Amino acid sequence: MAYVISDDCVACGTCQPECPTESISEGDIYSINPDTCIDCGTCADVCPSGAISPEA
Ligand code: SF4
Repeated sequence: MAYVISDDCVACGTCQPECPTESISEGDIYSINPDTCIDCGTCADVCPSGAISPEA
């Protein structure tokens, strides 16, 4: 289980420094490494686009 970033991402970068395990990578849209994500939800709380949610 990991959080995932949807196409609603506007690549603002708000989430990246908030991740305690440095699991978020920059890109055209940002992405989360599912192998290191600890499912804490911190990134989802700070995303201004509401683009981050738990993997279904
Ligand atoms: Fe990082 Fe937590 Fe978001 Fe996973 S849920 S990417 S550990 S901030």
